[in-house]
Amino acid sequence: MPDLRSVDEHLASILAATTPSAAVELALLDALDLAAAEDVVAPIRLPRFDNSAMDGYAVHSADVAAAADDAPVTLPVIGEIGAGQAESGVHDLPPGSAAKIMTGAPMPAGADTVVPYEWTDRGTAEVTISRVAAPRQHVRFAGEDVAVGDLVVEAGTALGPRHLGLLASLGRPTVRVRPRPRVLVVSTGSELRDPGEELDADSIYDGNSYLLSGSVRRAGGVASRVGLVPDRPQAFLDALAERLPGTDVVVTSGGISMGDYDVVKEALLSVGTVWFGGLAMQPGKPQGFGHLVSPDDPERRVPFFALPGNPVSSYLSFEVFVRPALRRMLGLTPETRRPVTARLTHAVTSPAGRRQFLRGVVTVGPDGTTVTEVEPVGGSGSHLVGDLAASDALIVVPEDVTAVAAGERVTVIRLDQD
Ligand code: AMP
Ligand code: MG
Repeated sequence: MPDLRSVDEHLASILAATTPSAAVELALLDALDLAAAEDVVAPIRLPRFDNSAMDGYAVHSADVAAAADDAPVTLPVIGEIGAGQAESGVHDLPPGSAAKIMTGAPMPAGADTVVPYEWTDRGTAEVTISRVAAPRQHVRFAGEDVAVGDLVVEAGTALGPRHLGLLASLGRPTVRVRPRPRVLVVSTGSELRDPGEELDADSIYDGNSYLLSGSVRRAGGVASRVGLVPDRPQAFLDALAERLPGTDVVVTSGGISMGDYDVVKEALLSVGTVWFGGLAMQPGKPQGFGHLVSPDDPERRVPFFALPGNPVSSYLSFEVFVRPALRRMLGLTPETRRPVTARLTHAVTSPAGRRQFLRGVVTVGPDGTTVTEVEPVGGSGSHLVGDLAASDALIVVPEDVTAVAAGERVTVIRLDQD
């Protein structure tokens, strides 16, 4: 058997060749789920100015320090202040007076507390207050949340809705992020037809480009499917050349094993920039990785992943090798899914010297998160797409293990979870 490259060595060489994409400035909503490529420092404070936290009356606390049900205090109301209506409102509040104030409206100078409506008779010309309002009560102070110069988002943070909300609150219409890689997905095989087309006696539907394009999207990339490419090297090269200029990563399926019509290998072996070989892995043994040079820019090296054609192998290879590379380009961590361990429900066997990835279904414990058990689904056949769709996890059997008994603990990678 020729020397097989280990899974770890292959992944390491892929990551060594992959760098985070150059940062771009995007409108806030386009930056959702992307990694910030700048440290964002607050240019303004939040709240911007002292403002009321309640609908009520702004007063001097000293004027209502003795207010009680049996000793109410009555103050003249000299005006009112609505949110965003400060212009027409009260700017200075003399001692011995009150101003009606709405939630979010700026506190008038001199006032140091807000008496909520509920503690008053809601008067308009004058107001009667029947409870003590302590100093600073129901006032939101300028800068108490965010001060000018605070580091509010660190470079590398995956931007969620809460970060976008904060950036907008600070007045930022855009943010610098690592852009989504544009991934070209190419299915090769003269037997393939698009879903919706008629099948001939010997043709099958192209499932892989959907499997892989969906995986690209889930990983944060933008997938574009190429129409089916037949097993003719020139057709394959033409399809690539036409699309490389707008592409950041190429992922192909099929055409890299030992058959007579292995189009990807045949077309690219002589180019010399793509490694083809075998991995100590099951499924997923045949693999190719390297780069292509874009015809529009000889300086631009486009990472190229040649994945096997068998659907399960293709999907696994994407999970194990392509997804971490896309996440590195996106600046997202962790790059690989965090493995867990679980009790295996049924015994499995595995070939010596290969890391086996079996499909499984996990059982989650009463806490809703801890994986307790994993049950193997289907066999090890790499054509079993029904079983693949029914699974939600991969069971990893290490290279030096050939059998795992029921009840033993195994490493599990939960799909669809970082
Ligand atoms: P290959 O690696 O091209 O020799 O393909 C290996 C097996 O996977 C063959 O049975 C192919 O028909 C099948 N296969 C290849 N590409 C696809 C695809 N896009 N969708 C479904 N099956 C495929
Ligand atoms: Mg093929």
